[in-house]
Order: sequence, then structure tokens, then C-alpha cells
Amino acid sequence: MPPIERYAIDQGCTDEELLAVARVYARDVVAEHGLTVSVGDLDWRLSTRAKRRAGAVRYRDGDPRSIVLARRQFENRGWTAMASTIRHELVHVHLLNERDDPSHGETFERLAAELETHVRCERFVEPTWWVRCVECGDQLARYRRSKLVERPEEYCCGNCGGRFHVVRNE
Ligand SMILES: [Zn+2]
Ligand SMILES: [Zn+2]
Repeated sequence: MPPIERYAIDQGCTDEELLAVARVYARDVVAEHGLTVSVGDLDWRLSTRAKRRAGAVRYRDGDPRSIVLARRQFENRGWTAMASTIRHELVHVHLLNERDDPSHGETFERLAAELETHVRCERFVEPTWWVRCVECGDQLARYRRSKLVERPEEYCCGNCGGRFHVVRNE
């Protein structure tokens, strides 16, 4: 793992500076771990509106096109947290390119451990409910009451087709 401190950047940096550092860091992570990710072909963006998710991969026609990072995570938790989000999103892009796999399944877990990043997408705000698949353990965050939260038996997991179980987040 490239040492995170090497890329450390000041809280007062501009969005462009932060994205430049994110790209350099991503390139080094990709090189070190042999990931199938072309950092330069991805569109890197900062979101100033994201309130919950620290990062996301956006697709077009089934291909990963951009990585969106939340500026707020950097403000609140600093570069170390953002670097971990970058590694998490890189694992997603790698698995999408390698095997069209968008899940946080077993392969994701293995790579996340190797890259020392979290398995679940990181959030700023804890959801009120977790809708969890009893088969594969995949879970969806829900912040307000919805049909899915009230009648999970009418839905099934997009990942494996399993049944859902709703858990109130304490
Ligand atoms: Zn994720
Ligand atoms: Zn499932």
C-alpha cells in the first residue's frame, strides 16, 4: 500500500487540487495491486451535495465511467478517510471490469482486505433501517419508511434473488 501520508493535502485546497491528489494516489494503488482500472479514462468528480455516501461509481452502458467523491467526507474526516473511500471505489471498478460484479460479495471482501479498506460503502449518516438479504448478506440503507421497509416480503435481493429482512438500526 502506498503510504497515505505521502499524498496528504491541506483542508483548504481547491477541488481541482484534491482531485489531482486523488488521481495520483489512485494510480499508485492500481499499480501496486495490479488492478484492472484505467485511472486516466475515468472521470473523477467531487460532489459538494452528497450528504450520506462518501463515494460512488457511476456507470454508462454497463461500464464504469466516473468516480464521485464527497468533499464533505474530506472536510469531516480528512484525507485518510477519503483515501480509504478511493480504494473502495477502485475495487468496485476493478470487479466491474473483470467480471461485471457490482456487489460487495466474497471477491470484494478479499480485495478490500488486501487494500485495507471497508467492505460497505461508507456513509456520513447512519440509515434508520437496514434491509438485509438473508441469503447473501447484501444490505440496503433506508432513511425513511418505504414499501420495501414495510413489506420486504414483496421484494427480493437484486444480487442473489434471496429474501429480505428489515432491521432497525440502533
Ligand atoms: Zn461499495
Ligand atoms: Zn442476496
